[in-house]
Amino acid sequence: MARYIGSVCKLCRREGEKLFLKGDRCLSEKCSFNRRSYGPGQHGQGRRKLSEYGLQLREKQKLRRIYGILEAQFARYFELAERKKGITGENLLQLLETRLDNVVYRLRLAGSRREARQLVRHGFFRVNGRKVNIPSYQVKPGDEITLKETATNSTLIKGILEANNGQNIPEWLELDTNSWTARVNSIPSREQIDVPVEEHLIVELYSR
Ligand code: SF4
Repeated sequence: MARYIGSVCKLCRREGEKLFLKGDRCLSEKCSFNRRSYGPGQHGQGRRKLSEYGLQLREKQKLRRIYGILEAQFARYFELAERKKGITGENLLQLLETRLDNVVYRLRLAGSRREARQLVRHGFFRVNGRKVNIPSYQVKPGDEITLKETATNSTLIKGILEANNGQNIPEWLELDTNSWTARVNSIPSREQIDVPVEEHLIVELYSR
């Protein structure tokens, strides 16, 4: 599966805001955006007035980068969102939010979506008792997500659990930190999806 392997901090600088792609580092003094909040590259410090198309494109790129999705896959999510009943922009966000890697991140079982994706790929989670190692797996209401028993002995996982300890979990999810079992209560509403994007701009972009 193709994935972005460049510097993720450059992506924040490109979008002109912190996208929180690196876990704890994003909240520390080491965050590159705190030191260089202008765009990367030779012309990064130049001022640019964006056209309408530019604004729509930037919003799409921002959302794609927040969830770590490549272009072609993002376009497929948009097609799916369009075909579903309801508001396309909200459908799109719900599809991204209910990816298994994002759910693991929202459960605070990983410091970033990148880390969550890696843990899922390594087979640390079961959904309804079955091992799932596909980060894009879509969870649905009623699904039960369990951390593999042996995983809780791993030093890496122990560190993550200690650091995050299931705090600030959104209402549409719940987590039992004794058994490390989580449950999906519902599909999140737009208000419950904490991402700083104006999704109508993305819908306008794809409607061109
Ligand atoms: Fe973005 Fe985090 Fe890097 Fe800061 S440390 S620039 S918030 S990815």
